[in-house]
Amino acid sequence: MSRKIFDSEHEMFRDSVRNFMQKEVLPYRDKWHEQGIVDREAFLKAGQQGLLLMWADEKYGGAGIADFRYEQVLIEENARYGDAGFFMTLHSRLVGPYIGELGTEEQKARWLPKCVTGEHILAFAITEPGAGSDVAGIRTKAEDKGDHYLLNGSKTYISNGILADLVVVVARTDQSSRHGLSLFVVERGMEGFERGRNLKKMGLKSQDTAELFFDNVKVPKENLLGELNRGFYQLMHFLAEERLLGAVGYLAAADAAFDITMDYIKERKAFGQTIADFQNSRFKMADMRMNIDVAQAFIDQCVEEHDRGELSADAAAKAKLFTSELECRVIDDCVQLHGGAGYMDEYPICRMYLNARVSTIYAGSSEVMREIIARSVGLDPRKKKKEAGEIQASAA
Ligand SMILES: Cc1cc2nc3c(=O)[nH]c(=O)nc-3n(C[C@H](O)[C@H](O)[C@H](O)COP(=O)(O)OP(=O)(O)OC[C@H]3O[C@@H](n4cnc5c(N)ncnc54)[C@H](O)[C@@H]3O)c2cc1C
Repeated sequence: MSRKIFDSEHEMFRDSVRNFMQKEVLPYRDKWHEQGIVDREAFLKAGQQGLLLMWADEKYGGAGIADFRYEQVLIEENARYGDAGFFMTLHSRLVGPYIGELGTEEQKARWLPKCVTGEHILAFAITEPGAGSDVAGIRTKAEDKGDHYLLNGSKTYISNGILADLVVVVARTDQSSRHGLSLFVVERGMEGFERGRNLKKMGLKSQDTAELFFDNVKVPKENLLGELNRGFYQLMHFLAEERLLGAVGYLAAADAAFDITMDYIKERKAFGQTIADFQNSRFKMADMRMNIDVAQAFIDQCVEEHDRGELSADAAAKAKLFTSELECRVIDDCVQLHGGAGYMDEYPICRMYLNARVSTIYAGSSEVMREIIARSVGLDPRKKKKEAGEIQASAA
């Protein structure tokens, strides 16, 4: 399906990104998979190429490109020719904007330039052993000690957790409110900040996903990001973009899996014909193509809405939910069409299958997405309870 949202500049950019992925990422895929972590040099090379924090102002070394379509191109090319565990988008467009939008001039000047060059790698730490989907359950706390905050607690499942030089940490600063959270930038080398294990995972083997520990870390007051106690609402503000970033990647992975499978079934023979000749294969491929193309039209529309500042929380939730579940279904069918080869690590589809499984879990699970969408169509039990409470109160 021809897509209408890109112009010639985006296409030229796509060519250069593809070249970068084929030269600087693809050859290292197996090495990174084996070692369980991407080489830092990959971020430095991406920085040299101008691919990190493209939105950052020129005075911080960025290109000042806010147009989301450039990030979309990056994600799509990384899904096809790069490595799913190379989380440059998490660095650039998921964590970086917290500093870009919430940071003071001093903070931006201090942190952004090295993030643009890739010398500093970013991570974002919300999840704790006891709090995942329920962000308001966070127990890591930061106490005001006059000239600094004292940070205590732990985080888990943190992407880029081992590589990160700067971690935006969500911590409780107001014990009296479930939403009394704030954001802090914790820097590599701060006393009491330790990393735990690089966690062993089902897929995304090259991505370093780690535990982080904070034991009486003295975080200077200058490292509070944004307004005190407003962290919960700041998180909500960035969620739509985070979900769209995910959706673009999940769909790109499904599309890449489709093409890999097409090549395979046209080559492989059984019962005197190619696998592609069986009616079942043709129908499966037709269904996949239909679903991917229909989803792409919706995602491209969401990207345009996002660039106009109009993407709603429920549209982003629909995008995330639909594409992550589609990615899992498509890749499952692709593995089936590969037969035994689909179960072998040496075939790309095998790793894609294992990578895809997390897409419906992180960045807001499918169940949480359904909650958001249900509320947007007026099905909100919390509101109903609140209204009932108010009616009872006014009757009393
Ligand atoms: C590879 C990987 C990378 C990650 N990277 C990061 C990172 O960089 N930073 C970070 O902070 N976190 C990260 N996470 C954590 C991720 O965001 C959480 O795993 C996710 O939010 C789910 O939280 P949980 O694991 O605690 O599951 P839980 O919240 O315990 O959920 C368990 C199950 O209950 C369901 N559930 C929960 N609430 C509801 C509800 N209200 N209604 C219906 N069902 C519900 C869930 O959908 C899920 O099926 C990562 C996780 C993984 C696996």
